[in-house]
Amino acid sequence: MALIEVRDLKKTYGIGSVDIPALRGVSFAIEPGEFVAIMGPSGSGKSTLMNILGCLDRPSGGKYLLDGADASRLSDPARAAVRNRKIGFVFQSFNLLPRASALKNTLLPMMYSFERKDVKLARQILSSIGLGDRLHHTPMQLSGGEQQRVAIARALVNDPPVIFGDEPTGNLDTATGVEIMSIFQRLNEQGKTIVIVTHEADIAAHARRVLRFRDGLLESDSQQ
Ligand code: ADP
Repeated sequence: MALIEVRDLKKTYGIGSVDIPALRGVSFAIEPGEFVAIMGPSGSGKSTLMNILGCLDRPSGGKYLLDGADASRLSDPARAAVRNRKIGFVFQSFNLLPRASALKNTLLPMMYSFERKDVKLARQILSSIGLGDRLHHTPMQLSGGEQQRVAIARALVNDPPVIFGDEPTGNLDTATGVEIMSIFQRLNEQGKTIVIVTHEADIAAHARRVLRFRDGLLESDSQQ
């Protein structure tokens, strides 16, 4: 069974009386353990797609099945619960709580779920991605690459099957971007499904499959 399946997915934004079609009927499936890059020019619908896949937004039409469950028809609280258990999300701008330590930021998804707060696990995850000596630093005391590592730790803490990244290296220099990609690669080797949006070919080269979008449609789907 596919981990992610979208069928004829559509999203139209309404601004006043004008309808803007951001996704115009997109279908594909992603199997467990894949590493997929989503590419396409600005305005092609990549962020819109990621927001729907990440259960941050709802489609206007079509279906989104996540791990066999229809995520397009869930109520807001049910969608939040699915997001918490099934999905880790890494953003371009890290989105960490500025006053919380690396450890507290990592524990955040556990505070929103019924899981017990597992400080030991959060420490372990932070150590495994090279932040064992930065547990009590706040985001301002960390470099961009370190902040993105904290965001990755936060995405991992509930052990979701899939990690989504929306331009996760977009705010980082090239060398740091490569380091972050090697973390995603290692996670993928350990069995996580990884789906990232990028417009850099070097970054997409870490993935094994590239979905290219144009004008709200899937233009190509290639293994590499
Ligand atoms: P990409 O991530 O590939 O740059 P987006 O998904 O951000 O593309 O945008 C796709 C289209 O939808 C664009 O025409 C964009 O202007 C429009 N769009 C995106 N978000 C909104 C929004 N919240 N309201 C209205 N239009 C939007």
